Amino acid sequence: MKIIILGPPGSGKGTRAHIISEIFDLPVITTGDMLRGAIREKTEYGLEAKTYMDLGDLVPDDIVNGIVKERMSRPDVVKGFILDGYPRSVNQADALDEILKAKGIKLTHVLSVVLSDEEIIERLSKRRSCPVCNEIYHLVSKPPKKKGVCDKCGAKLILREDDKEDVIRHRLQVYRETTQPLLERYEKQGLIVETDGEVPIEGLRDHLKELLG
Ligand code: AMP
Repeated sequence: MKIIILGPPGSGKGTRAHIISEIFDLPVITTGDMLRGAIREKTEYGLEAKTYMDLGDLVPDDIVNGIVKERMSRPDVVKGFILDGYPRSVNQADALDEILKAKGIKLTHVLSVVLSDEEIIERLSKRRSCPVCNEIYHLVSKPPKKKGVCDKCGAKLILREDDKEDVIRHRLQVYRETTQPLLERYEKQGLIVETDGEVPIEGLRDHLKELLG
């Protein structure tokens, strides 16, 4: 299975990616986590990416295409993969087509997560993230056991700079203008499978199994 997950910020792409990865034993390639990792390690492109990410803008295509190309060259993707948060622009979709063509691989599904702007703002402004292991919490629906501390690794949880309300609104606008047009491209290729962003977490595994199984 070769899957792209497309959806607005905070719609549950990452949650879906991890569940699908568990069900079908596939690697997840999450550009947002890879970029945040590069920022933590203070690499040259990480530092450049940070200036865009903090403002809610997309990181330039050449940086993101480069890290995806490198990741896709590893042998574990041959059996399949889940791309979470990539591609996000026409240029990135073109670059991905090139990468796949060179490897003789065809996409099998584009999972499109559908969620209203109001629900996205409610979710992201109450989201807390672990800067070390990337685990995600929600102050109301998934609070950590100990306030402000990651259950998994004990690190102090943060409100991501780009999860502040004005930045969320900008990210939504960027999504509508730059990423959403990709839906039409993949619709024409007959690859789109829609998933409702409001499916409760307890039912998500069965829902995804049914959609993709
Ligand atoms: P995410 O964690 O997927 O919400 O991504 C957080 C931020 O990382 C985005 O707002 C962008 O600044 C950057 N980012 C992640 N993936 C991409 C991508 N495919 N292209 C450009 N920027 C990206």
